Amino acid sequence: MASRTKIIAIIGAGPAGLIAAQKLSKIENLQIHVFDQKPSVARKFLIAGRGGLNLTHSEPLPKFTEKYEENAARFAQFLARFSPDDMINWATSLGVSLFKGSSGRMFPDGLKATPLLRAWLKELEGAQVQFHLKHRWLKTEADQKLLFSTPDTPSFEFEADAILYAMGGASYPHLGATGSWIDPLKSEGLDIDPLVASNCGFQVNWSDHFIGRFEGTPLKNIRLTHNNRSSAGDLVVTKNGLEGGALYALSKGLREELQQGSTRDISLDLKPGSEEQALVSSLSTPRGKMSLSNFLRKKLNLAPIQIALLHEFKNNTDIQNTDKLAALIKNLPVELIGINGIERAISSAGGVKFSNLDDQLMIRKQPGQFVAGEMLDWEAPTGGYLLQGCFATGVVAADGIATYLNAA
Ligand SMILES: Cc1cc2nc3c(=O)[nH]c(=O)nc-3n(C[C@H](O)[C@H](O)[C@H](O)COP(=O)(O)OP(=O)(O)OC[C@H]3O[C@@H](n4cnc5c(N)ncnc54)[C@H](O)[C@@H]3O)c2cc1C
Repeated sequence: MASRTKIIAIIGAGPAGLIAAQKLSKIENLQIHVFDQKPSVARKFLIAGRGGLNLTHSEPLPKFTEKYEENAARFAQFLARFSPDDMINWATSLGVSLFKGSSGRMFPDGLKATPLLRAWLKELEGAQVQFHLKHRWLKTEADQKLLFSTPDTPSFEFEADAILYAMGGASYPHLGATGSWIDPLKSEGLDIDPLVASNCGFQVNWSDHFIGRFEGTPLKNIRLTHNNRSSAGDLVVTKNGLEGGALYALSKGLREELQQGSTRDISLDLKPGSEEQALVSSLSTPRGKMSLSNFLRKKLNLAPIQIALLHEFKNNTDIQNTDKLAALIKNLPVELIGINGIERAISSAGGVKFSNLDDQLMIRKQPGQFVAGEMLDWEAPTGGYLLQGCFATGVVAADGIATYLNAA
């Protein structure tokens, strides 16, 4: 006798929800319904395309998994189920090849998300995945009865045999992920860590003179150090501080310390390619009538913003002394006074704690209900680790749903 068709509800049409839908759509006798509160799907994935869509990273897996810090062992298992190679094969299967950027990051040819998303949606629609947009999940009642509000009704009910929650974190909330799931899931007894900014900007108390001249200016090829951890890359000066990849990589430690209440110094190396002694030698040549700024520009190829930073953070005596100046160029302390809001962060930390879930990402107290993607309590730096983590957890949860329904 043919078995009954089982109904799966996936809440959240971001990358975690969509990859789960794709995986499950290959299994017979499953009817897959994807719900999202927005009028279109995967808005954050599309915005990620503006930065080239860094889908994954090419480094060896042990180094890759380290990026998930205290969750490294857990993510080693998730990535064994959907690895960076699987990500490459997945994109290729949709007609989009990936290439390796100079930093080892992997991007789609054309550096855009739209062609990939278009092919992905075509595949999902071809596999009969049904989309229900403008459906805002409110709560789940007994017997997997889901309640949504829609533009037509404040209370639309839907019954499912299995549920995947994939509603994202709370950064860039205008794109759909707002963290509105926290209260309903908390009231179901789930242990949830507050969502906080990750891969975010930090605040600096710039002088009016400096910010008037340099707001929006990039600070290229610097090295940034905090507590023996350092990261190289670029930063951008913002009205109230600094943003950019080099800072995102250290954002977890900085956030945790700033949350304790005090300010934190980071150290900028403005010439990471030069030894301090070499700088002293260059700076020791006579400068004649040249101004210090001109001298620094000509001798060390420092950009105006780098020279202005030296003036911003140190007094004239330090700058006039060759040894002290060289030391400052290699180690310029910049005081961070706060964290920028989650609404402008690339991702969020916090969320549904893994202790609520089994190895298949099923909520222990609510069999048949699973969680994936940024809703889960993990964080990773930019570099492709976020999307890779969302895809991998989406795949693990999809396999978990298949196993659960088979056994049910
Ligand atoms: C500017 C920017 C650039 C980025 N670039 C990269 C990058 O290059 N590489 C990388 O790895 N990562 C990048 N990221 C991070 C990455 O996009 C996210 O980590 C990822 O999209 C999270 O996927 P998700 O499926 O968990 O959640 P989301 O993509 O946030 O999707 C969640 C979905 O759930 C829906 N939803 C939420 N609440 C409800 C509700 N109550 N009812 C119904 N639907 C709901 C939302 O509308 C949304 O569509 C970037 C993020 C930003 C903001």
